[in-house]
Amino acid sequence: MILKFGGTSMGNAQSISQVADIVENVGPCVVVVSATSGTTDQLIKLAKTAYEGGDWESIFEELVDKHEKIVEELCSGAHGAQQFDNLKKVVQGISMIMELSDSALDRVLTFGERISSTILAALLRKRGLKSEAIDAYNLVFTDNNFGEGNVDFDKTDSAVVDKLGALLGDGIIPIVTGFVAQAENGHYITLGRGGSDYTGAILASALNAKELQIWTDVDGIYNADPRLVPDAHVLPQLSFQEAGELAYFGAKVLHPKTIKPAIEKNIPVRILNTFNPEATGTLITNEEENSLKSATYRKGISIINVCSAGMLEARGFLAKLFEVFARNEIAVDVVSTSEVSVSLTVDNGSAAKVVPELEKFASVEVQTGMAIVCLVGGGIRSSTDVLGRLFSSLADHNVSMVSQGASKRNITFLVEENQAQDVVKKVFDTFFRDQNESPIDKPGDASINRPHGQTGRRIANSLTPKL
Ligand code: ADP
Ligand code: ASP
Ligand code: MG
Repeated sequence: MILKFGGTSMGNAQSISQVADIVENVGPCVVVVSATSGTTDQLIKLAKTAYEGGDWESIFEELVDKHEKIVEELCSGAHGAQQFDNLKKVVQGISMIMELSDSALDRVLTFGERISSTILAALLRKRGLKSEAIDAYNLVFTDNNFGEGNVDFDKTDSAVVDKLGALLGDGIIPIVTGFVAQAENGHYITLGRGGSDYTGAILASALNAKELQIWTDVDGIYNADPRLVPDAHVLPQLSFQEAGELAYFGAKVLHPKTIKPAIEKNIPVRILNTFNPEATGTLITNEEENSLKSATYRKGISIINVCSAGMLEARGFLAKLFEVFARNEIAVDVVSTSEVSVSLTVDNGSAAKVVPELEKFASVEVQTGMAIVCLVGGGIRSSTDVLGRLFSSLADHNVSMVSQGASKRNITFLVEENQAQDVVKKVFDTFFRDQNESPIDKPGDASINRPHGQTGRRIANSLTPKL
């Protein structure tokens, strides 16, 4: 069993001791931890302040104080002093040469998890358990894509089996740094923000774990972000594909890459609450019930409208267009085409990289500050009126690029970013309020197994230019 604890779970002495209670109860397992709550953000600030020649020392001291307090309360003596000395050296280096490469930033960020794992392992030892902090630098291997390393699964799997297998054999509970990995050039690298979930899945897959448990600060996956919609309710079960769609389109509770290794090995993923461990949570498996599940949104999206005068005749135009995105390694989330134009969505930061190239053979317009809203559920497949109800509930909003995923388990559309939260609330009101049962629940129509279904990015197969 793999247990992953997020930042809030590792937030302070009290919550870390709740984490230790849970681990103690579970027995032999592998634990993956995030940095303590807010630490990764503080480390980013630390590195950037050092680079800009600002007062990084006071940020550093805050970080040391925060962790010293936790250590004093939980396991005094188990000091992370050596790690903080090393962090200080790295940051001094950045400040001195006034350079902050992606690689140096990643190195700084890894200290969050390297410190938190040391604290939890020391606490477990204090409670009489055999436990060791393990730096995933020696377990997870990637390319040199700093900021979001791409995992080399062959190399990783054999290191995980060797190293963690040996510890487990000796009855030791490994406390592994989430988010951290080793780049091809031997430097520290990270797996992208929120990447500790992914570390959990990578280890679960390598070890063929019975279950991956993601312990967080909410009771499971809800039918809308419970912070946005307080009436939302927990979903007891989701399919891998539904969870993948939700994660990809913004539900922060799960990192989007987490699901793939779980699908490949068919490892159930359970979302649980560290602060309410009795709750049954959400179980994610390859079974899919025929119902609507949840609505989510992702901000920071740009629409690129591309129009070629000669498009009607120009065979190969689309190929040429997509080649530009592929070469620049830019993910396109939603695509819609008409006879004379193509609209594509990308993350805000990516548009500038491709527009100059696209302008060489087409006229291009960019709309920034958009959000993708996504309604997810296997039930979309069998429903005839979801689109109709969606359209009428959003009549007052400017909605574009409505599309249904090829898997027919999601409907996505674009709205202006500042309207996204209101729109999600309306979608919730339309499909999920006043019901504990989902609207297209058909008894006896459950369990459609699609272990290798498509999640995330896809090309729209139905288009509605404007509502
Ligand atoms: P952790 O630090 O444990 O990794 P995250 O902050 O990354 O936790 O993810 C948990 C948060 O995800 C919740 O506090 C919640 O606000 C947010 N969230 C967004 N959408 C959903 C959803 N559909 N269900 C549950 N939580 C959601
Ligand atoms: N600590 C990292 C972050 O804040 C990774 C994680 O928490 O999953 O992004
Ligand atoms: Mg998270």
